[in-house]
Amino acid sequence: MPTQIEVLATLQVVDQSLRAKTLEVTEGERRVAALEEAVRAQTVGANAAREELGGLVAKQRDLEARLGAAEAKARDRRMRITRIRSDKELGLARRELELLKEETGVLETELVAVLELVEALSTKQRDVEARLAELTAERDTEAAALRETVARLAVEIERERAARTELVQNVDGDLRRKYEMIFSRRGGLAVVEVREGICQGCRMRVPPQLFNEIQRNAQVIICPSCQRMLYWRAEAEEANG
Ligand SMILES: [Zn+2]
Repeated sequence: MPTQIEVLATLQVVDQSLRAKTLEVTEGERRVAALEEAVRAQTVGANAAREELGGLVAKQRDLEARLGAAEAKARDRRMRITRIRSDKELGLARRELELLKEETGVLETELVAVLELVEALSTKQRDVEARLAELTAERDTEAAALRETVARLAVEIERERAARTELVQNVDGDLRRKYEMIFSRRGGLAVVEVREGICQGCRMRVPPQLFNEIQRNAQVIICPSCQRMLYWRAEAEEANG
């Protein structure tokens, strides 16, 4: 019949394994969630860039149409001007041509600026889309890895939980609660060995009187320094000695 501390030491092996597996799953979930968020943010950015570019392209089309119309009008006026005989009419037609020339000049300047912006935004949008594709692929890879992890660990976790249930039946309730509290507060290490009089949890020397008690493994002794449950194994001591 194993002593309480021996059962707890066995229980801790199972709990540490369960803890590592649970951490592996939560870590995978955390990575997928972070990538999920990055994809979402990048999608918002990509949509905004697309919308901005769309607006500019529409402006470009409008300017091109207006420029085309002004140029056509100017061509038409130049052809008509040859047929004008009256000086007054000729003056008006020339003035009109001057104005059309000014208008096309303004439109051309504006169009050049818009074309430059369209080019810059097109480059930016390609970058944003490429990064989005990258993030989406990363997210899919991580999600697949997580599914694989969960599938691989689910059976083991279930088996270890069953083993745990069986083990805790042999532990006094108060002692189990105390063990679980220490386990969660002390980084998954509640039961530690004493080797050559030294607590392996905190590396402090255990008082000799306490060490004698621990060697009997009769009751659960707490390390005065790190508050963990101390455990002594004869065979470990011999191996080290
Ligand atoms: Zn200690």
